[in-house]
Amino acid sequence: MVNGFGLAMPPNSNVAPSLTSNHIMGKAIDMTILWTGEMTVNDKAGNSTKVQFSTNVNTNTQLHKVGASYGVYKLTSDAPHWSHNGR
Ligand SMILES: [Zn+2]
Repeated sequence: MVNGFGLAMPPNSNVAPSLTSNHIMGKAIDMTILWTGEMTVNDKAGNSTKVQFSTNVNTNTQLHKVGASYGVYKLTSDAPHWSHNGR
């Protein structure tokens, strides 16, 4: 099940499952975003932004800004977690 659903387990996630999570409401997603070097993406307003890959997604504020422009916010204490409110 862990492999089939790509569930985040330690060390990728150290946050225990919650019954009040944004996942329950369908307002959160756990995902890993990988690319090489620098990518150019558009934010929601159409502004081109260069984002450098970082092995620590929790500190990649450029990527967080692009996500936020689409209303998808990073929970910086949980590597794969993004949601509508950052929790
Ligand atoms: Zn999550």
